[in-house]
Amino acid sequence: YYESMKHSERLKTTGLLAAAVAHEIRNPLTVVKGYLQLYEQNNAIDDKGKKNFSIMIKELDSAEQVISQLLSLSKPSKENTTEKLDVKLVIHSVTDLLQSYGLSHRNYIEVFAEEDCYIEINKIEFNQLLVNIIKNAIEASACGDSITVTAGKKEGFVEITITDKGQGMSAEELELLGTPFYSLKSKGTGLGIMICNNIVSNYNGEMTFNSSKGKGTTVTIYFPLAK
Ligand code: ADP
Ligand code: MG
Repeated sequence: YYESMKHSERLKTTGLLAAAVAHEIRNPLTVVKGYLQLYEQNNAIDDKGKKNFSIMIKELDSAEQVISQLLSLSKPSKENTTEKLDVKLVIHSVTDLLQSYGLSHRNYIEVFAEEDCYIEINKIEFNQLLVNIIKNAIEASACGDSITVTAGKKEGFVEITITDKGQGMSAEELELLGTPFYSLKSKGTGLGIMICNNIVSNYNGEMTFNSSKGKGTTVTIYFPLAK
């Protein structure tokens, strides 16, 4: 039965199930973290003990990150409010925000965006989409490499591209992209692309990956222009 489900259907089921599980796990985690934080501050505990508590808290923080991402998959997009957004403005606000993150890796984000490109979308989701894709570009890049973001009109659509000169992906890696929990990063959740795929399809968009191992990656996103 599972085999015969369409890819998109399977993703939906996985997302719903994951979100239900995430929700049930979040509360007990919060309680455990609260107690650990109390012990960490307890004077009766020596430095070695405190270090162990801090490790436990950090691990819980990672688990919490996975859970927040899973929960964002479950939000029924149809209920989200949409607005007519200026793509250029949003890209600039996201890249300004990420520039600090990029600078810590010494990457510069260049933006070439056309005026008057409007799309009808939920602002939080559009931000999340751009942040996830640009963060991946930063994480794949070496120090000093720049990342380019473009936006322009193309046959009734807005075309957004994010290009990095980073490590790139092989055909096998590209094939696995977007599978839940697929990540090659030690601190990755492997949920970013899955969330992006969800957002793109919710607003009748399209997203393609062009990548070459060792050379870099271009992610191209299309959304229908707002009327
Ligand atoms: P995460 O970033 O948590 O690992 P993602 O779903 O965002 O999860 O990405 C999954 C995997 O796809 C990454 O671990 C990485 O191996 C690969 N990937 C995504 N974007 C890029 C990119 N721009 N360049 C190279 N590899 C990428
Ligand atoms: Mg990611």
